[in-house]
Amino acid sequence: MATRHNWTKEEILEIYNKPLMELLYEAATVHRKNHDPNTVQVSTLLSIKTGGCPEDCGYCPQAARYHTNVEGNDLMSVNQVKAQALRAKESGSSRVCMGAAWRNVKDGEEFDSVLEMVRTINKLDMEVCCTLGMITENQAQRLAEAGLYAYNHNLDSSEEYYKEVISTRGYQDRLDTIGNVRKTNVTVCSGGIIGMGESADDRAGMLVALSTLSPQPESVPINALVPVEGTPMEEQEPVSIWEMVRMVATARIVMPETQVRLSAGRTQMSREGQAMCFFAGANSIFAGDKLLTTPNPDVNEDMELFRSLGLNPQKAFEKKEQPQSVSAEESQYQNLGEKPKWSRPGHKIERNLEAQQKPKAKA
Ligand code: SF4
Repeated sequence: MATRHNWTKEEILEIYNKPLMELLYEAATVHRKNHDPNTVQVSTLLSIKTGGCPEDCGYCPQAARYHTNVEGNDLMSVNQVKAQALRAKESGSSRVCMGAAWRNVKDGEEFDSVLEMVRTINKLDMEVCCTLGMITENQAQRLAEAGLYAYNHNLDSSEEYYKEVISTRGYQDRLDTIGNVRKTNVTVCSGGIIGMGESADDRAGMLVALSTLSPQPESVPINALVPVEGTPMEEQEPVSIWEMVRMVATARIVMPETQVRLSAGRTQMSREGQAMCFFAGANSIFAGDKLLTTPNPDVNEDMELFRSLGLNPQKAFEKKEQPQSVSAEESQYQNLGEKPKWSRPGHKIERNLEAQQKPKAKA
């Protein structure tokens, strides 16, 4: 069946709410038609610049305005990143995703340094992904030229519920950034988080937003909120494994060719729960004991799980060929010193405001 780009919320909700055995069967069938069910892509997420972020994302311990125990770090050096990438490669990752706690990319020395990191990791024959906040078309082109394989920019939730989570930028900014990435040959990674207090309707709304993109994102991370002390969502109840399985299965059915990534929240899942997610169509994980700042299973635990389930890590560039890295000197796209006006809706979100008033959590 051809990939559809016209899913409605009602259709997606109907899939999400199916009896679980039917949902699993349908998702696993779609999965087998489009992917090798025994191959799982493994990425390592590296926080290259941690904390001190000016945004107010209600789930995030890196937002400067909340009082969490995250220690901020300046941008890593290219050599530090190279060393970590080599370690990730040795432990079976085919992709490195570099995350910087920025609202948006600013042209200048730090971005030049990130471009050099992209070139360096691409030369290690690993897929390189970045998540750096909002970017302009020129910045996306510069990343593409450096050899970037994927850009991550999550929609987080439905457009309606997004307003309950973040007040410092708008949903359209997210879509515009994804649009800018799409003007290059860089693949798109975009997904969201469940367990932030949203309804099933919002989960379906997020899947509508993602599945109606044309082309659909090559990669869709599904995160389960990890509530962190000091953030506005510190008291959220963790989602059940059944909700996670339903979300993964529904994403698989409506986005058959996409790699569905089992992302944050795996430490709260049993091995059996994770296996069910793989059966439902998840075919990527993040490896390493930290996901930016939140805990993640140990690499050895993951490899043991892979062995038990007979899963194999996907090799780099199996889905798309390796991009060429153009050196800084030969680049066609220059630093334009742009100052784009990304939106600031600035509406009030009570729980975000309350979290700002609270004293710092004890270490
Ligand atoms: S999710 Fe990203 S943009 Fe939002 S506060 Fe955290 S680091 Fe900043």
